[in-house]
Order: sequence, then structure tokens, then C-alpha cells
Amino acid sequence: MPILTFGTEAQKARYLPRLCDGRSFGANGASEPEAGSDIFSMTTRAVRGGDRWVLNGRKVWITGGPIADVFLCFATTDPSKGVLGITAFLINRDTPGFHVVREIPKLGMRTAPMGELVFEDCELPAENLLGREGRGARIFNAALEWERGAILASVVGTMRRQLDRCIQQARTRKQFGQPIGKFQSVSNRIVDMMTRLETSRWMIQRYAWLKQEGKDATIAASMAKLHVSECFVQNSLDAVRIFGASVTLSRGAWSAMSATAWGASSSPAPTTSSATSSPSTCGSDRWMSTRPVGLIASKTWAWKKSTAQKGKEPRFRSPGRRGG
Ligand SMILES: Cc1cc2nc3c(=O)[nH]c(=O)nc-3n(C[C@H](O)[C@H](O)[C@H](O)COP(=O)(O)OP(=O)(O)OC[C@H]3O[C@@H](n4cnc5c(N)ncnc54)[C@H](O)[C@@H]3O)c2cc1C
Repeated sequence: MPILTFGTEAQKARYLPRLCDGRSFGANGASEPEAGSDIFSMTTRAVRGGDRWVLNGRKVWITGGPIADVFLCFATTDPSKGVLGITAFLINRDTPGFHVVREIPKLGMRTAPMGELVFEDCELPAENLLGREGRGARIFNAALEWERGAILASVVGTMRRQLDRCIQQARTRKQFGQPIGKFQSVSNRIVDMMTRLETSRWMIQRYAWLKQEGKDATIAASMAKLHVSECFVQNSLDAVRIFGASVTLSRGAWSAMSATAWGASSSPAPTTSSATSSPSTCGSDRWMSTRPVGLIASKTWAWKKSTAQKGKEPRFRSPGRRGG
């Protein structure tokens, strides 16, 4: 979108067809080790020399960094002007002096790899400047409005799937002689999850409608990102609680969905000692699972160590060893 909105005709022709049909992948480089929330305090420096720019600096947390072909990066062309000194540049991956130095491992969303970028006397032709010199903040904010509003649209689908699975679990899992959904504390959770799903959907649709109408969507985009992400974390925690011990044994999509909750919360994970309980009979019936995660982790480690000493393979793997 920044290229479409601020690019020259030559830049649009060069980059957009490949980005749109998937032959190219783009990334956005703004954050630096010392410039996070205070993004316009960035120190990556671009100095003009004739018809070329020379960039030096470092960017971190760049989504898509390890795989992108083209990067929209921000640098200061005049530190004395603060935010008005920020300028945007388009950089091809193979530009001399531009390096993707490492892939940063992540807790969740591991299919979107994250990288760190370094500029070492990286020379760019003048035509790689996007927009006008000193207008980078405007481009950054415009790009971020799209990102904030749209990035969590897919999460609404995940929340829908999460909810469907929780309803199914509440109907089929029986404890104390009845489906757990008959307990009000479980059905209330499902009502709350559904309400969060609906409000999230509406906020994203409202943002999309504002964009479609050509209206200012800055606040709507920020509110949507805040609301949907908070709701997703909360729904993931509720889903983990509804599934009880069985969630600790799942893999793949279900684990990915609840990874947000695992990472975001310091509250005790609803788990029982898998080494001793039988999944079909000994869940909440036996004891309410509120043991601190640290205690369980240290017990798991001790148990693994003892089984390893006896030459046996551990029967389950901790979340830290999950593949994918
Ligand atoms: C999954 C993911 C993907 C990302 N992808 C990209 C990307 O593609 N490109 C890119 O450039 N960056 C990316 N980032 C980086 C992201 O933009 C930064 O994480 C964000 O700007 C916050 O900076 P920080 O992490 O350094 O936190 P900090 O700024 O250090 O903030 C730490 C804490 O301090 C609080 N805080 C900071 N300032 C204030 C204040 N004034 N008042 C009150 N509280 C404050 C924050 O709210 C936060 O709780 C990504 C981050 C994540 C997590």
C-alpha cells in the first residue's frame, strides 16, 4: 500500500505486479534496538551523496525479514529535524551493504519469520527514495493504519474456529455425569467468547467500511487492533480452561491457537500431571488444576531426567520442544 499511495509510476511498475501476484514478498523495517514505541527516535542514517544515498544502521523485529525480496525501510536524513527528518526507502534484498543478519526465534506466529537487518555503507540510487525526503513519518503512519486495521482480520477466523471447538468440547466432555457445558461457569465462558468474537468482527468490518468510503480510519484501526488482540488472548485463555488437561497434549493448529495465551499470561495453566492421570477419567473430578506453571515445569524436568537415566524415552514433550 505505501508504494501504491506514495510511489512514482516507475516504482509502481517495478514492484507492484510482483508483490501482488506473489513473486515478491515485502517487509517493513522501522524498529531498531533503541527505537520501539518511540519509533521516530530511530538512528539509522541516510546521507546523500550526489544521486545516491548511503545508509548505515540496524533494524530489528522485522516480520518477513528472512524471506522478503523488497524492504520498505525508514532512516533519518536529518537528525536535527526529528520526526520531519525521517525518510522512506525501497531496498532490494541483494543490494550491496544490506544484510539480513539473523532470523529471530519467536514464541508464536512462527510461520511468519522475523529478522534483523543491517546497513553497512549501503548505497541506494536516488530513485529508491519513496515519497519525498522528510516525509517518511507520513508514509509510516499511512502504512501502519492499513496494518493495524487489517492484520488481525484472520484472527477473527481463528477465534471462530476456537469457539466452535469449545462448544463441541462443552457438549461432549462429561464430568460429574453431565456435559461440562451444563455448568454455568463453562457456559458463561462460551457466551463471553462469542461476545468477544462478534465485537471483534464488527470493529474490523467498521474499519474496512471507513476505508471503503475513503474516510479517516486512524482511530478505528488502532481500536480494532487493541480490541481484537485483547479479545483473542482472553478467548485463548478461556479455550485452554475449557479443554483442561487435554489441551496440553494437542499439537498443530490447536496448540498454535492457544500459544498466545501460554505466552501472554502468567496465570497458572490448566494442566494436571499427565504422568499420573488418565485423560478419560481423571480431570476436574479428581482435583482442580491450579498448580503454578513453574512447579509443573520443574517436575516435568525432573521426571524427564529420571526416565532418561533409566534409558526410557519421555512420554510427552514440553511446549518448548514442540516442533514447527
Ligand atoms: C510479532 C511482532 C512483529 C513485528 N513486526 C515488525 C515489523 O515488521 N517491522 C518493524 O519495524 N517492527 C516490528 N515489530 C516491532 C514493534 O513495532 C515493536 O515491538 C513496537 O514498536 C514496540 O517496541 P518495543 O517492542 O521495543 O517495546 P518498548 O517500546 O520498549 O515498550 C516496552 C513497554 O513499555 C511501554 N511503553 C513504551 N513507551 C511508553 C509510554 N510512552 N507510555 C507508557 N508505556 C510505554 C510499552 O507499552 C510496552 O509495554 C514487531 C513486533 C512484534 C511483537
